[in-house]
Amino acid sequence: MPEPSELLSTVFGFSEFRPGQEEIVRAVAEGRDTLAIMPTGGGKSLCFQLPALMRDGVTVVISPLIALMRDQVRGLQAAGVAAGALTSGNTEAETEAVHAALRDGRLKILYMAPERLASGGTAAFLKRIGTNLIAVDEAHCVSQWGHDFRPDYLRIGDLRAALGVPVAAFTATADAETRAEIVTRLFAGRAPETFLRGFDRPNIHLAFATKNGPRQQILNFAAARKGQSGIVYCATRAKTETLAAALAREGHSACAYHGGMDPESRRAVEARFQTEDGLIVTATIAFGMGVDKPDIRWVAHADLPKSIEAYYQEIGRAGRDGTRAETLTLFGADDIRLRRAQIDEGLAPHERKAVDHGRLNALLGLAEALSCRRQTLLGYFGEAAGPCGHCDLCDSPPETWDGSVEVQKALSAILRTGESFGAGHLIDILTGTLTDKVRNRGHDALPTFGVGRDVDRKTWTAIFRQMMGHDLVRPDPERHGALRMTGRARPILRGEADITLRKDTLKAASRPAAKALVAEEDAPLLAALKAKRRALAEAARVPAYVVFPDRTLIEMAERRPATLDEMAQVSGVGAKKLDRYGATFLEVITGHAPEPVHPARQKLSGRAEGAVYDRLLEAQASLLRGETGTEKPMSCSAALIARVAALGQPDETALERILGERRAERFGPAFLDVLAAS
Ligand code: ADP
Ligand code: ZN
Repeated sequence: MPEPSELLSTVFGFSEFRPGQEEIVRAVAEGRDTLAIMPTGGGKSLCFQLPALMRDGVTVVISPLIALMRDQVRGLQAAGVAAGALTSGNTEAETEAVHAALRDGRLKILYMAPERLASGGTAAFLKRIGTNLIAVDEAHCVSQWGHDFRPDYLRIGDLRAALGVPVAAFTATADAETRAEIVTRLFAGRAPETFLRGFDRPNIHLAFATKNGPRQQILNFAAARKGQSGIVYCATRAKTETLAAALAREGHSACAYHGGMDPESRRAVEARFQTEDGLIVTATIAFGMGVDKPDIRWVAHADLPKSIEAYYQEIGRAGRDGTRAETLTLFGADDIRLRRAQIDEGLAPHERKAVDHGRLNALLGLAEALSCRRQTLLGYFGEAAGPCGHCDLCDSPPETWDGSVEVQKALSAILRTGESFGAGHLIDILTGTLTDKVRNRGHDALPTFGVGRDVDRKTWTAIFRQMMGHDLVRPDPERHGALRMTGRARPILRGEADITLRKDTLKAASRPAAKALVAEEDAPLLAALKAKRRALAEAARVPAYVVFPDRTLIEMAERRPATLDEMAQVSGVGAKKLDRYGATFLEVITGHAPEPVHPARQKLSGRAEGAVYDRLLEAQASLLRGETGTEKPMSCSAALIARVAALGQPDETALERILGERRAERFGPAFLDVLAAS
């Protein structure tokens, strides 16, 4: 079996495994049943693609989304891996190419849509082609209670039994019920080796802000990241349209995406987003499942998501390539009311609503957090962590104050008015504002009237929002907008517990400085590399990242490789891509075409043998006419030199076998010296 780390660098061009990958790769390659739970962007695909190359026979990958399969196949082919897909989206020629590769025994990875499993001959077909591993992507699709349930996934268990091969299942969904269901349905209840990779996505910067001119806040955020791909999630279809138009007016390329559009226009947006560099999509939550773009540089929420899970999933679409990515989530009291109302007005049974309120509470807790957001977020997923240093609260800790007295005053205003009013009227009472409504209801006679005069209206608004955020009060679904006290508020009302609140820093939204991906001096080169990538991607009709991901271009711009050897050291540049694109990108960096290199030498680029090869070549040059310089000229072919370099150790017999007697006589001792010295 080839070494996984060797394939990692030669085929995929990565210098090291991401956390957790190596163990999973080994388990899968050794044919053990495995279940791996990894966060989005953790690098799941590699965990079945690499073992597929290590094992004999064909690995069949069941994946729910045709668009994703096509992209993965294109990516693999670009890396020189024999992969294909059988889906309803195939052209006849594509299908024929897959069958031809199968007939020749060349194909290593076959992607298949789950629908195929429903047709009778599939198991026999997969047996015939030598399937020896089933990889199941998005394994949570087998869960009947999940949002992504795909009935055909239930057939995978039977397929496994019919073929008698191991199954490797992957998902980003961590909850215990889903995991148990996967074990029952895919593994017939026999527990697979399970890998649970942490949920942290350290390259994603987390930030929340209270709404204060929200459209301008989003425009500013986008302006600081001009030219970078991003998604803006909005709560309504109308807002996706108006925001897209506003972004376009500011010179971004932006388009809207929502469930009300016809399928064709939606697909067109997905395709544009996948291939175009720097497009912004303003979307309702309907966007994202079908996109597998690793270089999304930012995600903004123009409105608060519905739960902490939704939040995590949506920000998780950013930065899957591991390069820095940024997020901003806007929220305000109206968002909290909207999300509460959506839960209360839904058709779900009572217990379900309670769970949904809990998930919303967790998100609000994150929004109103007083210290490191990542710590709070990971804490929700049951992971302990220290302060991350990569979120808005770590960047600048919020000012806080003891709000216990003000909260007590607010709660008493709520109780004394029969829990029948919204924040606006309650603030009128607290600040002693004599409106008609206050006078008509006689609320100016309440003991709470005017007790909060010392605090301004804006601060009271922030206090009420935070009270909702801490779930001390909830809007009553029966009485439109009226706030009711919850059990959590009682200890504060009784003076048995304190509550710390944040001071909202409602700075006027200013234009932040542009956030560049590289230092100023490298920016022009990065732009040139991106332009070259775009041209190549368009010519080949593949997404830009299939040529090279952002992170590879960033590394090129920073390290400025001067030779193909140095180019091969850049993360993301495997042998095949070096071969195909290395010289082209090198030319962009150095300004001239690199010296032609013999293919046998190029194969060794970036490896230790490359340097050995060069020294062997030097040694040979000095002996071309023998030690005396008078003998008949003699030399070794590039292929021979490469084989000698591959020896690694000085080995006289092996050397003679490679070179033959005559050449060994002339070059042998010098070559052995070179090998011994390296
Ligand atoms: P997911 O777990 O969401 O399916 P992917 O398999 O799509 O994630 O991987 C996300 C990105 O990370 C891809 O662009 C992939 O090329 C990259 N990646 C995976 N493994 C590594 C690695 N060991 N080193 C660098 N990049 C990697
Ligand atoms: Zn932090």
